Amino acid sequence: MTASVTTIGFDADDTLWQNERFFKMTQERFATLLAEYAEPDHLYERLTEAERRNLGQYGFGIKGFVLSMIETAIEVTDERVPSSVIHELLRAGQEMLNHPIELLPHARDAVEALAASHRIVLITKGDLLDQERKLAQSGLGELFDGVEIVSDKTAPRYGEIFGRHGDGAERAMMVGNSLRSDVIPALDAGAWGVFVPHDLTWALEHAEVPQDHPRFHELTDLAGLPDLVGRLA
Ligand SMILES: [Mg+2]
Repeated sequence: MTASVTTIGFDADDTLWQNERFFKMTQERFATLLAEYAEPDHLYERLTEAERRNLGQYGFGIKGFVLSMIETAIEVTDERVPSSVIHELLRAGQEMLNHPIELLPHARDAVEALAASHRIVLITKGDLLDQERKLAQSGLGELFDGVEIVSDKTAPRYGEIFGRHGDGAERAMMVGNSLRSDVIPALDAGAWGVFVPHDLTWALEHAEVPQDHPRFHELTDLAGLPDLVGRLA
């Protein structure tokens, strides 16, 4: 017998609204600004290395990304990067922090439908102010029973959140576009994990699809989520 789902956690970036596309656009601008010093592929590689190296100190989000771009620019130019380029990178970061919210298809309908029957919690990483701004602009804020902006998404963290907002991880589901952050640690905590892939996913979020896990599900988009939850009830 399966206990039914009472609480649903939603990831935000690239699950409810577009996010990675703004990082990709800024990366392309970064490559253009540094074109005379390095090839794009080399730049992207160095930037990803810097992001990975800095994650433990900067955490996830736009501000850490900008600092990693500046660090990479200094490295690849042997400390000769013009201050006009640094200025452009700072400006690019500020534009990212102001980008308008674009909800993904079916996000509003799925959240509205499930908010009527379940406790729903937004669980996201990233810069606190930026995530609060995006949630406010999304128009979805009122629908959530709880909002958790966390420094990282781990199994103990999911256990704690679903314990506090619901009936524990065993009766919870986490929905998101990242196997590494949304799905696998939620499964490890004992919850259902629903993978909704997005065609752009950050290199540091990749992981293998879980094989034959009884609580793992994959959906092409959020339109199918209320039905899936209904089938598990
Ligand atoms: Mg995401």
